[in-house]
Amino acid sequence: MVRAEPAPQSSFREVIQLFEQIADDLQLEQEVRLLLRMPYRELHIEVPVRMDDGSVRVFSGYRVQHSGARGPYKGGVRYHPQADLDEVRTLAALMTWKCALVDLPFGGAKGGVQCDPSAMSQDELNRLTRRYTQNIAHIIGVNRDIPAPDLGTNAQIMAWMMDAYGQLEGHTPGIVTGKPIALGGSYGREAATGRGVSILLRLLCEDLGRQPAATSVAVQGYGNVGSWAARLAAEAGFRIVAVSNSAAGTHNEHGLDIAALDRHVRGGGDVAGFPGGERCSNKELLALSCDVLIPSAIGEVITEQNCGTVRTKVIVEGANHPLSAGADAALNDRGVVILPDILANAGGVTVSYFEWTQNIQQFRWDETRVNSELERILTQAYRDVRALAQEHSITMRRSAMRIAVARVAEAIRLRGFV
Ligand code: NAD
Repeated sequence: MVRAEPAPQSSFREVIQLFEQIADDLQLEQEVRLLLRMPYRELHIEVPVRMDDGSVRVFSGYRVQHSGARGPYKGGVRYHPQADLDEVRTLAALMTWKCALVDLPFGGAKGGVQCDPSAMSQDELNRLTRRYTQNIAHIIGVNRDIPAPDLGTNAQIMAWMMDAYGQLEGHTPGIVTGKPIALGGSYGREAATGRGVSILLRLLCEDLGRQPAATSVAVQGYGNVGSWAARLAAEAGFRIVAVSNSAAGTHNEHGLDIAALDRHVRGGGDVAGFPGGERCSNKELLALSCDVLIPSAIGEVITEQNCGTVRTKVIVEGANHPLSAGADAALNDRGVVILPDILANAGGVTVSYFEWTQNIQQFRWDETRVNSELERILTQAYRDVRALAQEHSITMRRSAMRIAVARVAEAIRLRGFV
């Protein structure tokens, strides 16, 4: 039976359309196209959770495995009120392309639970995570599918996942990545995605002839990715002029003192209430007249409706799919340089790969080794993407996708799937 096509307004449809363009570029055979258009497997489960007040709530959960041609499925688990099958499919496909682009021996997957973690207690999140893990346990495994943190999840949630899986299968640290260090997590994993963003920002600015001190940067999202990207970019000399979280942001055109902002937030302060900047809305942040914009929160924050307000000349996609396809096309037409998500935020899965490798070998790397291997891998991927983009006068998104899809297609042929 052929599965239903995604709805016209779906982000997964946009991902399929991009894939079709690349398949045309590469003149992919029909069988390979058919295999890669839709995910290999989609699991939709209902997850009952006893809440602290004694009631039971039922949450929709998902695990989508897009392609396993290059290795075990790999991808995060998202806890968010809008997480649905379409979003999880989109993110699973992006994981396939991301892992292939940075040449990791993984396929692509993603998970999600439709819930609001900010409105749940730690005990409720613990019970939700354990039940979700039990319900997907039959399709994950160290050599099958390895979850990781994403929006709304963190190292603690990975610890609960590992423990719940271990109750079924015996102690298995390599079942998830992004774990706490004390449970076999990797040094450098927490900062890895933001570190990758800052490495790629530096490489891109070098190519564009921009000095860090003369480059102003706005970061949307001050969670794992955004806060580390802002912190490390500031350390590298960039001027961070604005950051935000879901409520609102803070802006200072002379540059925010990120260390002071960190102290303010750690002390329980609100980003928008930081005394070293002026409050700004997320809408204002996206429209700031600065050099680089780093969306690092949720998907499709820049669409055809608001892309006209974007004034930066460079966008580095810290988040997954922060631009709709229409916004991407319009900004490309205006000459905006866009470093695509599958390259810009690949630092996280790269260090997840190091964590998985360390767990399998039962050996730990020090942070210097983790960070230098990360820089080596991302620098190589960046150079490959830039070189192909320049050779064919195409965008970096198209170039990155060509490299990734060609690698997955090669694995499919070599395995004899087609
Ligand atoms: P997180 O939950 O740690 O932080 C998310 C941040 O975004 C928070 O500051 C939150 O307040 C803010 N936010 C939420 N909704 C918002 C809205 N509507 N407008 C503005 N800000 C909003 O999540 P994260 O792990 O930092 O992930 C952020 C993005 O990066 C996601 O798109 C995720 O898929 C992507 N990503 C994460 C990783 C990783 O290793 N964590 C790796 C690759 C990609």
